[in-house]
Amino acid sequence: LSGSGRLKDFFRFSVESGVPADWLAGAVARGPLASFEGAARWVEHPYREGVVLVGDAAGDPSFGCGLSLTLRDVRVLSDELLATEDWHTAARRYAAEHDRYFGALHTVESWMTAIFFDLSPEGDRIRAHALPLLAQGKRPDITGVGPDTVTDDAARIALLGV
Ligand SMILES: Cc1cc2nc3c(=O)[nH]c(=O)nc-3n(C[C@H](O)[C@H](O)[C@H](O)COP(=O)(O)OP(=O)(O)OC[C@H]3O[C@@H](n4cnc5c(N)ncnc54)[C@H](O)[C@@H]3O)c2cc1C
Repeated sequence: LSGSGRLKDFFRFSVESGVPADWLAGAVARGPLASFEGAARWVEHPYREGVVLVGDAAGDPSFGCGLSLTLRDVRVLSDELLATEDWHTAARRYAAEHDRYFGALHTVESWMTAIFFDLSPEGDRIRAHALPLLAQGKRPDITGVGPDTVTDDAARIALLGV
């Protein structure tokens, strides 16, 4: 698409998703119209052959906890390195622990993704159950508790109803 084609599509999608058309009448682009992919990416067991990944390089969460997670990675890795002279073992322990807490964070993020972005009939059922709970403040505290959120089956069923 040309630049103006992209802009027209952007206006059309905006109107289709609820923006009043008259807000956009006469609107012009003041800069590049661009976006970046927000897909979650992560590395399983972020340690190989003397190289350890921390922060976004190890896993890139999308619900506002990337910096906290980066600091946690640094803390967990440095604690492991200080606990033993065997840095291979320390790095493997860090990677295993990262898998555990990043996995928990990923689980709770996937719940919120289902609530807010799943457009299927299953998503509608989940929203019917979960949105009244969120309105009462009964939502996972992703940015506060993050990877320490309880993510067992009972917690999932309580929030999503499935
Ligand atoms: C739009 C946006 C909003 C965000 N909002 C939040 C939020 O509200 N809360 C939150 O907790 N997190 C948020 N994050 C995530 C947070 O910024 C990241 O998770 C965090 O900065 C990751 O830290 P890092 O050190 O792993 O990576 P970075 O901060 O990306 O640091 C990597 C550094 O490496 C440098 N670098 C890259 N390649 C090379 C190279 N070849 N040689 C030398 N240097 C190199 C880069 O220039 C950069 O300075 C947000 C991120 C974005 C993009």
